Amino acid sequence: MSAPALKSAKRLPPLPTIKDLLKLYGLRAMKHLSQNFLLDMRLTNKIVKTMGNIAGGQVLEVGSGPGSITRPIIEKHPARVVLVEKDKRFLPTLEMLSEAASCDVDIILSDILRLNMENMFPEEEVRGWTERPPNIHLIGNLPFNVATPLIIRWLKDISLRRSAWRYGRVGLTLTFQKEVAERLSAPILSKQRCRLSLMAQNWCSVHHVFNIPGKAFLPKPDVDVGVVKLVPLISPVCDYEFHLVEKVCRVLFSGRQKYILKTASLLFPLTLRETLAERLLKEANIPPQTRAIQVTLPEVGRIIKAYNGIISEQPSLASYNFRNRDDVEVD
Ligand code: SAM
Repeated sequence: MSAPALKSAKRLPPLPTIKDLLKLYGLRAMKHLSQNFLLDMRLTNKIVKTMGNIAGGQVLEVGSGPGSITRPIIEKHPARVVLVEKDKRFLPTLEMLSEAASCDVDIILSDILRLNMENMFPEEEVRGWTERPPNIHLIGNLPFNVATPLIIRWLKDISLRRSAWRYGRVGLTLTFQKEVAERLSAPILSKQRCRLSLMAQNWCSVHHVFNIPGKAFLPKPDVDVGVVKLVPLISPVCDYEFHLVEKVCRVLFSGRQKYILKTASLLFPLTLRETLAERLLKEANIPPQTRAIQVTLPEVGRIIKAYNGIISEQPSLASYNFRNRDDVEVD
């Protein structure tokens, strides 16, 4: 018996190349919107493949620009694609794609940092948090100036299961400056380990999938780009409020090479610093000569637990923020 024929992806009808469209509409990249276009369709295909199977699903693409990632998305048979783009000059090229597509395409001219995705997708897509992720996917070749604030905002949304994460554990496939991709995924003891690594890995499984050389983009940025896939965890490693995890991680990494006895002490006002930092690490069962890059997330959890214990005895300490005070010892 002959093997069944493979179902081929439905191609879009012939369209001008992205390069031709940029020329046709006189679309020059704007620096203030971090516009670096990816014209190599093998690479845009590879980014789209990172999402996994999107057939019949909902895909939201951030910063679609002239549509070079949008094309391979559409060819993978989603039920609907939502395009969020700040620059209205791209509307004609995106409308052309929308007309050629066999799925629904909604174009939203908006700033992604202002977009609430709470009601963006059909209600029947909602899944319980412990179930498999819904067939909803976020993707974007992100503008560099937006990437870090956006991921921090979205990690907070994930922690609160709001916006797109009201629908369940929606996965994200995003590009970052390569160094930021390395930080997001940096394991313990890595040089790149920082607050962002802990925050991302506390709420998501983070996979730095591959890199794209800067020369693949038009115009060529000064840096290479990393593609990162994040999938929200069923349970965060440290199950505490976002602001608390953020505060403790920020303090611990305020001096990467310092012992955490020193950095953790910044959680407290100067006069109480020494005693309370010693108590904190003792209760968390962490050697005071540990450095930030050696700290695991479960250890951060123990520090937060001990910190909460101290706060419950002296509630006024909760609002202490060493960045707002002039009693910080600088060395
Ligand atoms: N997706 C296209 C590609 O891969 O060639 C363009 C990527 S380009 C790096 C980033 C895109 O994001 C640009 O089209 C830019 O106009 C858009 N953009 C910049 N800031 C944005 C924001 N705050 N919200 C939505 N889109 C934004």
